[in-house]
Amino acid sequence: MRLYLLPVLLFLTACTVARKQEKIDLQAIKFENRPKNIILLIGDGMALAHVSANVYWRGNNKSIFEEFPFIGFHKSLSFDDLVTDSAAGATAFACGHKTTNAAIGVLPPDNQPCTTILEEMDGLGWATGMVVTCSAPHATPASFIAHREMRAQTEEIALDYLKTPLDCFIGGGEQYFDARGDKINLVDSLRDKGYIIRRGLSFNKLPLDGSAPFMLFTDLREPGTASAGRNYLPGATTLACEYLKKRSEKGFFLMVEGSQIDWACHANDRTWLKAEMNDFDDTVRRALEFAAQDRSTLVIVTGDHECGGLALNKTDSKNDFKGTFVVRMHTGALVPVYAYGPQAHLFSGIYDNTDIYYKMRAALNLPSN
Ligand code: MG
Ligand code: ZN
Repeated sequence: MRLYLLPVLLFLTACTVARKQEKIDLQAIKFENRPKNIILLIGDGMALAHVSANVYWRGNNKSIFEEFPFIGFHKSLSFDDLVTDSAAGATAFACGHKTTNAAIGVLPPDNQPCTTILEEMDGLGWATGMVVTCSAPHATPASFIAHREMRAQTEEIALDYLKTPLDCFIGGGEQYFDARGDKINLVDSLRDKGYIIRRGLSFNKLPLDGSAPFMLFTDLREPGTASAGRNYLPGATTLACEYLKKRSEKGFFLMVEGSQIDWACHANDRTWLKAEMNDFDDTVRRALEFAAQDRSTLVIVTGDHECGGLALNKTDSKNDFKGTFVVRMHTGALVPVYAYGPQAHLFSGIYDNTDIYYKMRAALNLPSN
């Protein structure tokens, strides 16, 4: 095969894969030495048992998790507890420091704000985005852009979205911006800053040529569940990658969250969990398809902590299991990390959740701080 045909063939293969869910030949891709772009995908509450259940549930429709060349584990404990919450968990990824449970982008002992990797990259000229299935002020996205003592300060967290020029946001939570207790209309404030604001699930009328920043509010409050038909996350992830690539020559940082894997586990709801894991698997596939075409994108997939103490118990059938939850809260199990693309080898091994931050910096060759 002539080498110059390779990009065309890869593109055509990727297009086919999107529809037929066939195996992408991820190993055949030759990458740049360093990434321009980072896509960090977080399955909230997702640890090894959840990925295991997803692999078995999908059966012959093979899970994308099986395709990753580099796998590690992180220790999710927070500053003050073996069992972290999502605020301290995401702050560890965002800032490289352990913090107390419920803290959003601030550090002990006196709640000083820490600069997040999203804020730093934004300041250095990278494009930045977040695509989630929760509301904008929810703990995980909040920890990349806001600095508040308590995750419950949702209206204050929404205010922090005006402080960093995030290029795109897709997710719920419009009410925290335009139906606030303090009557400040943050949608107007964002428009004054040049944002295009859209509502609903249509990707039409977004500035996809990269000409303006945008926020697409899929819902007034929290988005619906995958088991009830919510399915925007995979498409929104592809859209965000293609949009962000046009926003900056330098590259982009995109955080994608499968937010409700955690909620399904708190509810001990197997049907909901299966739908959320399936949606997240499709989303990770989209990120890898983009990375396989782009060749300068590092994809990292992990959870912030385990949730539910999920066990895969024996049934009478060889090919089936009974998913059983031990608790309705988080647990301290190690959390797997999957990496693909330039510098992905950095993510092998067992390390602290804070090292995800330092490994991203090392991959980008940002100076250590
Ligand atoms: Mg979350
Ligand atoms: Zn949780």
